[in-house]
Amino acid sequence: MAFIHTFHVFDVAPDSDKFRDKNVVRANLQNFFLQYINDNDITSSRLVWINGATTPFINPAPAPNDTVVFLSLFNRGFKQPQLSILAGGTLADTPTTALGVTQLGLPRGGFAEVFWDRCVNHDEITSSLFHEACHLRSGMGKEMHEWKSGFGGRGISVLKEKGSSNKLPSYDDLQFYTDAVKKPVSIQRNRAPTTP
Ligand SMILES: [Zn+2]
Repeated sequence: MAFIHTFHVFDVAPDSDKFRDKNVVRANLQNFFLQYINDNDITSSRLVWINGATTPFINPAPAPNDTVVFLSLFNRGFKQPQLSILAGGTLADTPTTALGVTQLGLPRGGFAEVFWDRCVNHDEITSSLFHEACHLRSGMGKEMHEWKSGFGGRGISVLKEKGSSNKLPSYDDLQFYTDAVKKPVSIQRNRAPTTP
């Protein structure tokens, strides 16, 4: 049965500034990415933005075909580690310039996070949200950056290792995510982790 896909962004980042306008992120994530995530199985895809400062958890809980990506700070200050560390597990790969990180296979489901303070503008934030969502939904780690499709497209773009600097997704990026969200996964991350 066809379903509606919901992309939740759980936002615990600072307020918008001149170069990182959340209204632009929201519009472009919907218009350049999610608008194209539909087919016979996916009725449509929509963005739901949760303000973590005023809303403690996602309600209703994320569905098995949904996506949850946290938008937060890499440098949260003394004794405040990044959320992905609080989420548990160990970070397999945290290059000093990574704009986000996704941990897979944690007891409560995978955890995807984009670092507001590592992105220079709204376009990097938008593409990073999609990039980490692709890791989370596909269950693929770094091997995703080298992924080649059988779709006959011109290759991945935003899914590449440094792909979050690309503003627009390629056909293969969109097809990859479309296929990934059709596979139900257990996402129980309905709130930001706050204790180690
Ligand atoms: Zn990646």
